[in-house]
Amino acid sequence: VATNNFPSSNGRTIPATIISPNTIIELEKGDPVVFEKYWKKRSEECSIVIRGWELMSYLGDAKNSVCWYMLPEVERGIRRLHHVVGNAVTNDRYIVVGTGATQLFQAAVFALSPSHPSQPINVLAAAPFYSEYQDEVSILRSGLYQWGGDAASYEKNEPYIEVITSPNNPDGIVREPVVKSEAKGKLVHDLAYYWPHYTPITHQADHDLMLFTFSKCTGHAGSRFGWALVKDIEVAKKMTRYVQMSSIGVSKESQTRVAKIIGVVCDGYENFGSMESELFFEYSKRLLRERWEKLWAVIDESKLFSVAKYPKAFCNFTNESSEPFPGFIWLKCEEGIEDCESYLLEKLKIRGRGGKRFGVDSNYARLSLMGTDDDFNEFLKRVSNA
Ligand code: PMP
Repeated sequence: VATNNFPSSNGRTIPATIISPNTIIELEKGDPVVFEKYWKKRSEECSIVIRGWELMSYLGDAKNSVCWYMLPEVERGIRRLHHVVGNAVTNDRYIVVGTGATQLFQAAVFALSPSHPSQPINVLAAAPFYSEYQDEVSILRSGLYQWGGDAASYEKNEPYIEVITSPNNPDGIVREPVVKSEAKGKLVHDLAYYWPHYTPITHQADHDLMLFTFSKCTGHAGSRFGWALVKDIEVAKKMTRYVQMSSIGVSKESQTRVAKIIGVVCDGYENFGSMESELFFEYSKRLLRERWEKLWAVIDESKLFSVAKYPKAFCNFTNESSEPFPGFIWLKCEEGIEDCESYLLEKLKIRGRGGKRFGVDSNYARLSLMGTDDDFNEFLKRVSNA
């Protein structure tokens, strides 16, 4: 493998793999491998040993009358993490855990849908919306709910469920509900990216049903773990029922790892001063900031592509005012390029996800900013030479 010296995101010079100009750079999925370097440095303290006889039961906590498959240390860890970060209220909230926020989103839609509807309830999200919602809602052609499209253009006087993704995937914008209908609506807040590395923490979110994921918080997408903070016990129980029907709970191996890693993150903040290494959110924010700064330098010079600028806000967690540093680049192709996804693939050999999948025009495309240093640097090189 050919290598070349390249400045890394921590300022040191490391050998970078030279990527052939014919190799396709895969930036279509939001795989958060950018955080791997941090966890490599904390390798020992984050390791767990699970013996052959351990964690054999379906049960996690027989005393938990709502989410009976959740391990108590996971519940404590999640409450502690939100307390440390200050991004969401956990008092008087039930916690339901799932195999990723993907499973919990479906559990939430199921739980909020009327049980015996005359017609399926509409599930909406403002465009550009996270592209998977539509498929997740439609795949089983449920009689309970159906995909209703762009929330901003919903005019029916019928009950609905609106998903508010904030900050939004794909465009990183902080959002509020948008449906204007007189009809009764229920809200799901997908706060997958409401963490200090991606966006300033301006307040403690306090909604009825909030979804979070370990995938985007620490980057451990492979653990397939997410959680919901739910105000209403009946909704929480119905979500648990959905998870039970779908997978009878969540892997205890994953839960054990989640509890361990959340513990390491929180210990760092609560014993501040005693740690040698940089703390997780500071490290990961610095890393994303560095990538965004490099990106701006290239985009500002580009005649083909643009990216909207974000306003600054004060972050209560980091005690500084800063722009958001989203995990995705929401790229707009300038006039003359109608299909941004095809242009990127055919001309630059960069695979992104086109605007159509997010409910908007094909002159937009989403690219992951969370991939490896090599892929990101090669992406910048190709865009600046375009
Ligand atoms: N919601 C949003 C907004 C996401 O971006 C993602 C992951 N791309 C998910 C939910 C799903 O996350 P998980 O890996 O926990 O299933």
